[in-house]
Amino acid sequence: MADSNLSTGTETSARADGRAFDELRPFKIEAGVLERADGSAYLEIGGNKVLVAVYGPRELHIRRLMQPNKAVLRCKYNMAPFSVDDRKRPGPDRRSVEISKITSEALTPAVFLEKFPRSTIDVFIEVIEAEGGTRCAGITAASVALADAGIPMRDMVVACAAGKSNGQVVLDLSELEDKEGEADLPVAMMPRTGDITLLQMDGHLTGDEFEKAIDLAMDGCKKLGEAQKQAIINRYGD
Ligand code: UDP
Repeated sequence: MADSNLSTGTETSARADGRAFDELRPFKIEAGVLERADGSAYLEIGGNKVLVAVYGPRELHIRRLMQPNKAVLRCKYNMAPFSVDDRKRPGPDRRSVEISKITSEALTPAVFLEKFPRSTIDVFIEVIEAEGGTRCAGITAASVALADAGIPMRDMVVACAAGKSNGQVVLDLSELEDKEGEADLPVAMMPRTGDITLLQMDGHLTGDEFEKAIDLAMDGCKKLGEAQKQAIINRYGD
């Protein structure tokens, strides 16, 4: 198998945007960008622009959702109609329902939900511009917004995808690499403990490639995790 691209970490790849195989797209994260939300964050990575608002913990009025001994963490992922090349039809679809669900599942292990019985914490993720990797961008930004809201957490959750494009295992797939590539592997983790809270895979990887992709994604997560921390420090000082 041609995997020399991963052997030394020094070679550059033939990626369309000129990145090395283990290079993230340029990114920035800002906390506390919305006045009316309890917590908020803005994240850009490559051509993705994502805004997150967090409300709560607050009383949950829907009795069938209420948990007597903990809060529920509800996430809503939405893509703006103008966020993609072909206008996206407004409103929820199968994809956004799936991403909302996996986002909630990826964030839940980090949040001390048991501190807020019968409550809800609501996370709204708005994708303003999309360029591949929006579910990961949403999770990473949501975690910063939860911290900004003062929600007690065991750790941040940070997400990043790796995958295979042009026969090469690469970090942080662009939209082109996602659409034309051979595999996409979004990963979310808690950087302090190393616990993985989301693992999805689309496409085909050999066992060896899978392990390399996980390692790349986890390294990418750690770099993004530093930017999450910095975003909170920039807002509140250290
Ligand atoms: N995309 C699009 N139209 C859609 C949904 C997605 O153009 O209705 C693009 C968008 O750039 C997105 C990419 O396809 O980031 C990959 O989508 P995927 O479902 O793999 O999720 P993501 O990688 O964004 O988490």
